Amino acid sequence: MPLSPLDRRTLLAGLAATPLAAALASASEPAQARVRTQAHIVIAGSGAGGIAIANRLARGLEGARITIIDGREQHFYQPGWTLLAGGIWPADRAALGNNGRYHPRGIEWVKDFVAEFDPTANTVVTRGGQRIRYDFLVVATGLQLNYKAIEGMDEAALGQNGLASVYASPESAASTWKLIDAFRKTGGRAVMTAPNTPMKCAGAPVKVTFLLDDRMREVGTRERAQISYRTGGAALFGVDVYHQDIGRRFEARGIEHHLQQRLTGIDIGAKRATFTGPGPEGAKSTVDYDFIHVVPPMSAPDAVRNSDLSWKEGPFAGGGWLEVNRETLQHRRFPNVFGIGDINGTPRGKTAATVKGGAPIVAGHLIRAIQNQAPDQQFNGYTSCPLITRVGSALLVEFDHDGNLVPSLPFIDPLQDSFFAWTMKVHLLKPAYVAVLRGRA
Ligand SMILES: Cc1cc2nc3c(=O)[nH]c(=O)nc-3n(C[C@H](O)[C@H](O)[C@H](O)COP(=O)(O)OP(=O)(O)OC[C@H]3O[C@@H](n4cnc5c(N)ncnc54)[C@H](O)[C@@H]3O)c2cc1C
Repeated sequence: MPLSPLDRRTLLAGLAATPLAAALASASEPAQARVRTQAHIVIAGSGAGGIAIANRLARGLEGARITIIDGREQHFYQPGWTLLAGGIWPADRAALGNNGRYHPRGIEWVKDFVAEFDPTANTVVTRGGQRIRYDFLVVATGLQLNYKAIEGMDEAALGQNGLASVYASPESAASTWKLIDAFRKTGGRAVMTAPNTPMKCAGAPVKVTFLLDDRMREVGTRERAQISYRTGGAALFGVDVYHQDIGRRFEARGIEHHLQQRLTGIDIGAKRATFTGPGPEGAKSTVDYDFIHVVPPMSAPDAVRNSDLSWKEGPFAGGGWLEVNRETLQHRRFPNVFGIGDINGTPRGKTAATVKGGAPIVAGHLIRAIQNQAPDQQFNGYTSCPLITRVGSALLVEFDHDGNLVPSLPFIDPLQDSFFAWTMKVHLLKPAYVAVLRGRA
């Protein structure tokens, strides 16, 4: 949806006074004195967090050896995948090209995955068997999608037979739109799911649901569909005020919802889903569908989960998340290890916006650690995403570790969806994301 000149002027005038503008303007910040060191810093993961840290360290350090390890060559703007699934962006608009384009000059890129972390020996071992020693480690592996935990689920079948998922890849996000477009012509039973684990962008399953509903209304076929939303969690969203708000919106739009119902099995051929209630022995029920949106359980990647770096007790132990101090983002037992992004075992905080907030803190604390100085900043867990409510409107959702709302734009009501928040989502946040990668925002 292109912006009219008036929309554009209103937008720019509003933005001029905001932290987002300040963040983008910081591209011209004066250079700070660089810290000389011969330390070897290994960054596991070349996604949003890993690249943002590499760029910040390359600017802040002189003489350091920086190695990024990641076998994935292409970089995708994942927050754009919901726009692919809603038929708003064409399939290629969320592609950002080769990862190396965003790496700072002079770093080494090992194109492989870490298979083993041994923080006692300050060593990682890649799947190919390369053993790499480090002085400092940044864990930036993101999270693992566990489609296989759903009995009968086959990722290769996504995009056919009414089986959709925005999370698996840009292709599966784009094919979600093809399936939604087909479903809105025929109608039938749509089943929208969410797991009971932490998720990256916990709003994404809700956004896809609102878009499905809206796209059907657009062509006048909404009354031909029954849409139900089933989450394994005890709430529709981890922040109560949004749990309530989404519930009200679902009710107003005729979307029924069920809590503590996790998708545990699927018969793709028969188009039948099995849900399990709370607890290990929860009651099972089956639901027939014409369209299903599958959101898999998520955890730390196995290499982190099975290492000494993961939480061994408490709420983050089950998913194998990284045991960091939630304020300093430094590992609680291995002080030469830091965590950034989705991998962190902290409350909430699995968005690219969290990377934007955490990257300066991790880079700053690592540079202080090189100089034997203690952390001096506290991360509040800033988490944010524009929660699309329909085409042309979104809620700007922003909160901290404790679920307190932390709105950054004074003229935007966090509980009122707006064209402004939609415009941010569709036009502004991709360039802001690239600025985060470059370590400039
Ligand atoms: C559908 C969807 C919608 C989203 N919407 C939003 C939104 O609206 N707003 C928002 O802010 N965020 C959104 N996000 C979330 C955002 O994309 C992530 O939070 C962000 O990318 C996290 O950055 P990261 O570096 O932790 O992980 P990633 O960017 O996922 O990168 C992790 C990297 O680590 C690599 N890796 C994995 N295992 C290993 C290993 N063993 N060794 C080495 N490398 C490894 C991977 O290959 C990958 O390159 C969305 C995500 C999705 C999927």
